[in-house]
Amino acid sequence: MTSAGVTYSEFGWVDPPTDVTAPVKGELTCDVAVVGGGYAGMAAALRLAERGADVVLLEAGFCGSGASSRNAGQLGSVPGGDPSLLSLVHARRWPGIIRLTEGALDFTEELIGRLGIDCEYERTGNVRAAVSPGQLRLARKAADIFQKAGVDVEFGDGRDLGLPNAFLGGMFERAGGVMDPGKFALGLRKALLASDAKVFEQTAVQAVEPTSAGVIVTVPGGHVRAERVVLATNAYSRELAIAPKRLAAPIWVSMVETEPIPSDLLTGTGWTSRSGIVTQHNIMQNYRITRRNTIVTGVRRLQVARGTVGVRKPDPEVVADITEGFRARFPSLHDIAIQRAWGGWIASTPSMLPVAGEATKNVSYLIACNGHGLSQAPHLGTLLADRLAGDEVHDDLATVWRERPRFTPAFTFSAPVLHALWAVDRRADRKAS
Ligand SMILES: Cc1cc2nc3c(=O)[nH]c(=O)nc-3n(C[C@H](O)[C@H](O)[C@H](O)COP(=O)(O)OP(=O)(O)OC[C@H]3O[C@@H](n4cnc5c(N)ncnc54)[C@H](O)[C@@H]3O)c2cc1C
Repeated sequence: MTSAGVTYSEFGWVDPPTDVTAPVKGELTCDVAVVGGGYAGMAAALRLAERGADVVLLEAGFCGSGASSRNAGQLGSVPGGDPSLLSLVHARRWPGIIRLTEGALDFTEELIGRLGIDCEYERTGNVRAAVSPGQLRLARKAADIFQKAGVDVEFGDGRDLGLPNAFLGGMFERAGGVMDPGKFALGLRKALLASDAKVFEQTAVQAVEPTSAGVIVTVPGGHVRAERVVLATNAYSRELAIAPKRLAAPIWVSMVETEPIPSDLLTGTGWTSRSGIVTQHNIMQNYRITRRNTIVTGVRRLQVARGTVGVRKPDPEVVADITEGFRARFPSLHDIAIQRAWGGWIASTPSMLPVAGEATKNVSYLIACNGHGLSQAPHLGTLLADRLAGDEVHDDLATVWRERPRFTPAFTFSAPVLHALWAVDRRADRKAS
């Protein structure tokens, strides 16, 4: 399988804005400095500004240039990972985890409406879909667990759920849907720039150092003296010495997009619902339709960071592998070309849950929404801002709050383990075909 003819772009859905703001020059003071301008940092800064704080946001690239403009745009309503395991290992937190994921979805839908962001959001729902009888059993079990927890999901046959013909069935999450995440990120950025927050892009923070009189943030052009700092640096966190050790593993995720597909061909695949899809493999592959009638698909193979977490484009080998998965699921689209490829860094935790807490006095962090930050990052960013503004800790923030910044090593996120999981998935695919 070749990936010839594919354009490799750095950002998935958007070009960098033409009004990127100037970097910090000299000395500044503020109440709160937010480091990182993804969904989490932008939402936190916006809320702090709304609440009257003197807030400065420092972003290495442009706001949204990280995972927030590059993701698949599937807005889900349930936590990621295996619900049997999650509900067992985190039995006491399980009701809170369900509340958090549902609350995050409601919050993000409300935010899109309140800020009037045109991000092509379609309430199609999403499906944990099965391509083999084994995956079907997993999906049925997941549906049972989520239904018992009160979530609006249903198990169904592939045809009843309007899935492409290669999918046997799955668990339909009625709430949520798909959007253009780049437009969502730039919409948030626009609202932030219109607020009283001071936004400095092209400003890569080099150090965050607490002192007896607050926190000093060092940037290439000077310093920001803040009473408090929020780290919203996601997968890039380990580049900052202040971030807790082993907070989250940076994992590279690749995406591809087809050329526009004629409507009759798309309908011919059986995909009448337009619901977003994630498979039940160890490492899932996702599929979603865009407004321009292309299919965006990805993941399938995860890559660990070697050295600095920086600018990167997908490996052609991984693009070819994702394409192979697409061709297997959509045989009737054999003549549809893969047009573009991009990727991004996610911050992964073994539980697939986000984490928040204090790295040290006056320095909070909110990180690692894994592959679910489209709803969770803006929601939790806002709740962290409310906490800094003096509110009681909201239950959803309390659910992911760590009393101590101690994290154990996550062996799952090593190259050999990720490769083995991928190989097991391919073996299962061969057996099922
Ligand atoms: C390919 C891909 C597909 C995904 N698909 C989905 C999906 O379908 N649904 C879903 O819910 N989630 C998905 N996700 C996950 C989701 O995109 C993230 O969870 C979410 O965007 C995290 O937002 P964030 O603000 O925490 O991080 P980011 O958007 O990564 O923002 C962090 C920001 O911090 C900045 N930064 C880092 N270090 C510094 C520093 N030292 N100084 C200044 N700035 C700094 C970075 O430049 C970056 O802009 C996907 C992610 C990827 C990569």
